[in-house]
Amino acid sequence: MKQHLDLCVVGPVYNEEAVLGAFHRRLTDVLSTMNIQWEVVYVNDGSRDGCAAILEALHASDQRVSFIELSRNFGKEIATSVGLDYTRAKAVVLIDTDLQDPPELIPELYAQFLAGYDNVYARRRSRQGETMVKRFTARLFYRLLQKVSRIRIPVDTGDFRLLSLRAVEALRRLREQHRYMKGLYAWIGFKDKCVDYDRDPRYAGATKFNFGRLFQLALEGITSFSVFPLKLASLAGLLTAIVTFGYGLFMLVRTLLFGNPVAGYPSLLLVVLFLGGIQLLALGMIGEYLGRIFNETKNRPLYFVSEYRAAPLEVLLGQVETPTSDCPQS
Ligand code: UDP
Ligand code: MG
Repeated sequence: MKQHLDLCVVGPVYNEEAVLGAFHRRLTDVLSTMNIQWEVVYVNDGSRDGCAAILEALHASDQRVSFIELSRNFGKEIATSVGLDYTRAKAVVLIDTDLQDPPELIPELYAQFLAGYDNVYARRRSRQGETMVKRFTARLFYRLLQKVSRIRIPVDTGDFRLLSLRAVEALRRLREQHRYMKGLYAWIGFKDKCVDYDRDPRYAGATKFNFGRLFQLALEGITSFSVFPLKLASLAGLLTAIVTFGYGLFMLVRTLLFGNPVAGYPSLLLVVLFLGGIQLLALGMIGEYLGRIFNETKNRPLYFVSEYRAAPLEVLLGQVETPTSDCPQS
């Protein structure tokens, strides 16, 4: 059987030259205290700043660092999936490299893994350094998603979490192009456990998720996990059908009783515009799903790797002479 490390930490990197060094120091400080065999895998998601050189240097100076260069920027969701594809450990921690997820929480996540949990997710108790609007919209979105999809996606969680090998293997089998990772973690099931923490403000640099991108992500979340908007269209159709039937009946009776003095231009215009609007909206909803079906049917590979520098396995396995722990579910 292939030998596995105890823990692998996956960090997606996109234009993080200002924080990467500090992040790596804080991370390795924590991991070194844990007395397990570990590696760090950085996935460089087509950064256009000096990240590539920094990662090269980290790999050269620290034998427990692997890095993967993607051929271009594929987005965080895919960068994270790349990390999952390349890990060689019994447990994987996914963490942002901008120091918003405190590495100090990893031992706690790992303890829960040893206690037998497959998906140990960190839940934000507070969100410092984020605007009121972002907090409000985030909350609204999570609530909405919870309402319209059948799977239970925990509120106020991000990608910061630990996954057991079998959870990772499950995720590897999901090759969809439109990857709403938070939904996928919940979709695979297995035993999950929540650990609370306070989210720090960004250490340096700026967020890559502006409002447009967040909206896109929200749309991805809803369309990947719910066909509720489509049902909404048929519901609206049914409702208008019922209302118009009633109105038609009323018109018929009125015309029979009182004749028809031609009038009602405003109501006519209102009805035409209203129905036109609903129809366009429904078409748009169908379009959102259709576009996604189109993308999925192309069946393209998720990403391309331009370089993979792996930390040597002998070195990684040699970190701790006697293995401290056994995977609880192997
Ligand atoms: N990231 C990435 N590819 C992207 C955008 C972001 O790999 O296209 C990484 C980024 O380097 C960071 C993490 O994803 O480690 C979270 O990004 P960011 O801090 O911009 O998001 P936020 O915390 O604002 O949600
Ligand atoms: Mg961030």
